[in-house]
Amino acid sequence: QPALSVSNLTKQYANADHPVLDDISFTVPKGKVFVVVGPSGSGKSTLLRTIAGLEPIQGGTIALDGEVIETGRPDSAKAGRSRRSSALRTRIGMVFQSYDLFPNKTVLGNITLAPTLVQKRDRAEAEREAVKLLERVGLADRKDAWPHELSGGQRQRVAICRALILHPEVLLFDEVTAALDPEMVREVLDVMLGLAKSGQTMMIVTHEMNFARAIADHVILLDGGHIVEESDDAHAFFTN
Ligand code: ADP
Ligand code: ADP
Repeated sequence: QPALSVSNLTKQYANADHPVLDDISFTVPKGKVFVVVGPSGSGKSTLLRTIAGLEPIQGGTIALDGEVIETGRPDSAKAGRSRRSSALRTRIGMVFQSYDLFPNKTVLGNITLAPTLVQKRDRAEAEREAVKLLERVGLADRKDAWPHELSGGQRQRVAICRALILHPEVLLFDEVTAALDPEMVREVLDVMLGLAKSGQTMMIVTHEMNFARAIADHVILLDGGHIVEESDDAHAFFTN
């Protein structure tokens, strides 16, 4: 049973004359890393957003661990969001290019917000797990800091902890290092490599080709609304 199964997904924005994603199908096996590449505007971001439930789809299905969590409705293009319940939403995590931490909450407050508010978990238990996650990304000493006191690379690592505390079955990364200064890129990529090693299922959009070559179990190239190339051999894919 794959972790994620996307079948015949079609996505068209309300004001567009053709679909940005046209009948896309693929599966992501459990514990594997799936990398999505393609030119700017090819729909990489849109693909992740539909999987995360941030955008409705007009055709096809998205299934998690064999359970369909999203079904395309042709008339849904104008809806701002998919209809997915918050319980289903928390099963897929997403980290964005802009580390959107809540500015009025500390690092610990940012990480424990969703588990306590949405999942109704015990605060002390959530805080213990948050501290463990911060240790894992090298930020244990910053738990009481405010977002504005952190570097971009530190904020992005906090954003990763905020996703991880919900134990997502699939974790999506949309260009998470694109806005970082070069010296901070490595520390974020290293965290992602560690997650891959620990068996976290991930889908990654990135322009860091050396990183993609090192981490990918499977690569797809999107263009013109279609998967135009795919490979289980990232080394060969990125060397050609
Ligand atoms: P990529 O991530 O590959 O750069 P995007 O998914 O951001 O591509 O965008 C794919 C296409 O969809 C682009 O033509 C973009 O302008 C368009 N698009 C993205 N978001 C929206 C939106 N909210 N409304 C309308 N068109 C959009
Ligand atoms: P990315 O390439 O990372 O998706 P963009 O700058 O293309 O970044 O998009 C940033 C935001 O603007 C996204 O929320 C996207 O959905 C929205 N957007 C992009 N293109 C369009 C468009 N043509 N019309 C409306 N919204 C858009």
